[in-house]
Amino acid sequence: MTSPIRTERHGDVLVIISDNPPVNALGQAVRAGLATGVEQALGDDSIRAVVIRCDGRTFFAGADITEFGKAPQSPSLPEALDKLEASDKPVVAAIHGTALGGGCEVALACHYRVAVPSAKIGLPEVKLGLIPGAAGTQRLPRLVGAEAALPLVAVGDPISAKKAQAIGLIDEIVGEDSLEADAIAFARSKIGQAVSRSSEGTANEDGIRNPDIFDQFRAQNGRKMRGFDAPNAAVAAVKAAGELSYADGVKKERELFMQLMNGTQSKAMRHYFFAERAANKINDVPADTPLIPINKVGVIGAGTMGGGIAMNFLSAGIPVTILEMQQEALDRGTSVIRKNYENTAKRGRMTMEQVEGAMGLLTSTLDYADLADCDLVIEAVYENMDVKKQVFAKLDEVVKQGAILASNTSYLNVDEIATATQRPGYVLGLHFFSPANVMKLLEIVRGANTRDDVLATSMKLAKKIGKVAAVSGVCPGFIGNRMLSQRQAQANKLIMEGANYWDVDDVLLEFGFPMGPFQMGDLAGIDIGWHRDPSKVTTVREALCAAGRFGQKNGKGFYDYDEARNRTPSDEVKQIIADFAAREGNAQRDISKDEIRERLLYPMVNEGAKILEEKMAQRASDIDVVWINGYGWPLYTGGPMFWATTVGLDAVVAGLEKHGLPASHYLRQKADAGNGFD
Ligand code: NAD
Repeated sequence: MTSPIRTERHGDVLVIISDNPPVNALGQAVRAGLATGVEQALGDDSIRAVVIRCDGRTFFAGADITEFGKAPQSPSLPEALDKLEASDKPVVAAIHGTALGGGCEVALACHYRVAVPSAKIGLPEVKLGLIPGAAGTQRLPRLVGAEAALPLVAVGDPISAKKAQAIGLIDEIVGEDSLEADAIAFARSKIGQAVSRSSEGTANEDGIRNPDIFDQFRAQNGRKMRGFDAPNAAVAAVKAAGELSYADGVKKERELFMQLMNGTQSKAMRHYFFAERAANKINDVPADTPLIPINKVGVIGAGTMGGGIAMNFLSAGIPVTILEMQQEALDRGTSVIRKNYENTAKRGRMTMEQVEGAMGLLTSTLDYADLADCDLVIEAVYENMDVKKQVFAKLDEVVKQGAILASNTSYLNVDEIATATQRPGYVLGLHFFSPANVMKLLEIVRGANTRDDVLATSMKLAKKIGKVAAVSGVCPGFIGNRMLSQRQAQANKLIMEGANYWDVDDVLLEFGFPMGPFQMGDLAGIDIGWHRDPSKVTTVREALCAAGRFGQKNGKGFYDYDEARNRTPSDEVKQIIADFAAREGNAQRDISKDEIRERLLYPMVNEGAKILEEKMAQRASDIDVVWINGYGWPLYTGGPMFWATTVGLDAVVAGLEKHGLPASHYLRQKADAGNGFD
């Protein structure tokens, strides 16, 4: 087999070149080739400096993920990099594209780094539940300081060449089209000087002088890091770089790395990495299906969802026409959109020019005729079948042929909605999540007649507006809300049987959700759908409304809220729930947190199994994608179906039985066969 690494001489400079498409991953042959290249340079007196660069679209973009979990093959990346750094002839990394993970570690082991302006550099291992494992956590802080290293190692977002230069990670930014020549010139300028080894740097002493930076960093990123092992290990590793010798620091890094590699979180996060990519594929839609150009989008309804949906397209530079029935609602809706953009600008994440740019793409109207030339119209009116059918009948009349007509319905039957049109092939569900301009998930609901090009176009469009998409078949609540209903039903039952409602919320918080169902109710408003008739109270929620408890908006719902929105359980609510339970003749008992957790989560897994059996989801991992992106299921457990496999499906079935809940045929079958979900 020919090596992916070759060398070329340019006078007294040896250029080591990797050609390992598509991303120059650091597989065994690449590592071996790098080590041999350095040996060649060291063994040749006429060579006085070395440049390392890559062919193709990028510098080394990371480890070879297909080698994960396999027996390590020599040389390891740390071995290859130590050899490289030990050279007494200057070694320069010439970076274009993305120097990520192992690629960044290669650059760190080089004595100098030059990059083109468009290059990006970073250590995203933490996003797969890991930390860098080839001394990245030890070389980086010694080179740029602990404070600058922390976000790179513990948050994992790549930075631009310019930013990298500002923190001292890049020595020089070179011409976009003259990387090799400029790198060779740079290398030559270092000939005869003592080389600069990152491992011998002292910038990490900032963390010794001011040890508070670690706690400050944790405090600033607490929410992002909550529950995740890897960012905490990353902080520990960077801290160790200041406290230990380089050799001991590297040992510490290895220890932390191995713990993470063998733990469940990283397995779950690697599962998710592939799950998100798999969710993009619609099994029976050919990859070369022609797409429908989407140059103008219509949105019906400028309420909570319509406004957020419109923002997605405006932000992506696609003109939107938004329609309401009345001017007042239209004005309210568009002013909320403007306010949201202005708030983003205030936080520095958008310029006022960009705000005006986005708003300039928005047209508001009361007249359906203005939607005639839209390529896609998304309906987000009230959740009512008759209203939706009227809207679709009207759209069918006025919107040009070949345009896609989508509904944002949460639960309703998309096939029935499609019957209101003469073009059911062009109808589907595009189910956004609230707030629609923020939440990542887009459930693409495939109707019985939805055409391939409509599906393929929607999938592509999802990417364009920065969403993570998953396809669902038509069933009540689709994938996400169908499973949510099971959880909510159990939550309601649990509090009728004596569980404290705050324990129900806390169990989910402890599991890693951002909030529990009753907190969620308070946030969304308990009075959604409240009929305002205190004499007709049939549910706990209605009883709360009758008592003037509408949620966070008026300072009391299930919880009492203080000015900082801290929640305290309410005696009044406890009494309301107890009265309800008594009226229904429910015996009250103490319910353990274990029981609460099992009763909330196992029925969701069971429903997920039914969804798979009915082929409403294409694959178990799509369900994980839905729950992680749409409902805050903790990423580090891999999503409900992956988590169930970790727990053991036999344990899930046993748990359901213990609590008198039915286990589906499909779940039992998988459990009996000793399988998990794939
Ligand atoms: P909303 O009440 O905030 O907004 C609905 C808007 O539609 C209102 O402004 C109303 O004036 C307008 N409208 C009603 N009938 C209309 C018609 N015939 N023509 C034009 N405009 C009309 O409701 P929402 O929360 O935005 O929900 C809209 C849809 O999105 C529903 O189907 C809902 O199930 C779904 N959805 C809601 C959420 C959520 O969390 N709120 C999440 C996902 C999906």
